[in-house]
Amino acid sequence: MKALTEREIRSAFVNCSKGEAKRLFVPHDLAERPWDDLDFFGWRDPQAPDRGYLVAEIDGDLRALALRASHSTVGQTRRSMCSLCVTTHTGGVSLLVAPKAGKAGKQGNSVGAYMCSDLACSLYVRGKKDAGAGSRLHETLTLEEKIERTTANVAAFVAKVTASG
Ligand SMILES: [Zn+2]
Repeated sequence: MKALTEREIRSAFVNCSKGEAKRLFVPHDLAERPWDDLDFFGWRDPQAPDRGYLVAEIDGDLRALALRASHSTVGQTRRSMCSLCVTTHTGGVSLLVAPKAGKAGKQGNSVGAYMCSDLACSLYVRGKKDAGAGSRLHETLTLEEKIERTTANVAAFVAKVTASG
């Protein structure tokens, strides 16, 4: 994806108030991020470990989501799979929950999915980050196809968050 600025990221949030979008943690080292290898940009707040965020370009529009890590933790020894990039981790997958956008979110509705805890799906898919032995399924898909799958999964998740009702 193209490199993003802090201003672009903050103005792309769809499921939190403008005030929250202004205050929430955005990494300061955006210029050094490996944008060419990212299908979406995700990050966690080091000061608030239950907070996570992701931003993706969907049909030409930037969409950013505020996420909360659910406290129903996946055991540290259990292997679990990221629903976005299909990487299996031991203890490195979190259930991240996004309040829905708009009215549905105000009524308390949310959407959750298991994701790589560090939201570095793009790097796992490309083999630039290693989740340990047995982390990749033996698949016949090409890298391009895996990237397409991750992108489609992220777009589907964002669509669930922004769907009305
Ligand atoms: Zn992942």
